[in-house]
Amino acid sequence: MSCLFCKIIAREIPANIIAEDEHCLAFRDINPQAPTHVLVIPKEHVASLNQMTDPALGGRVLAFARDVAAAEGLAERGYRVVLNTNAEAGQTVFHLHAHVLGGRAQGWPPG
Ligand code: 5GP
Ligand code: ZN
Repeated sequence: MSCLFCKIIAREIPANIIAEDEHCLAFRDINPQAPTHVLVIPKEHVASLNQMTDPALGGRVLAFARDVAAAEGLAERGYRVVLNTNAEAGQTVFHLHAHVLGGRAQGWPPG
């Protein structure tokens, strides 16, 4: 298995895991871009949103991201959930992941 995030799921690579259920895992980004920067991933390997065939998987990732944001104290003040898909969006790890970013004001449009 060559996928970095599958290795984190399998505990073959360490990560700061903050939440987990049957379907999803949440861990802190190694290179945080905001005071809270958590990655939420499905335990099933899906390379990107382009390969996501089961909409329920996307719904579970999104609901998990919301729950992580709430647990981080961001529900009321606000947060951003980002899924980078392929080259122009800057995707570097090809296991679908939602970035949960918060704890500071964020500009729009994104870079
Ligand atoms: P992408 O650019 O694909 O949307 O996001 C990949 C994210 O994974 C980046 O924010 C990067 O910092 C993070 N990342 C890459 N390798 C690791 C790692 O080994 N551990 C953790 N926790 N995050 C990683
Ligand atoms: Zn994977």
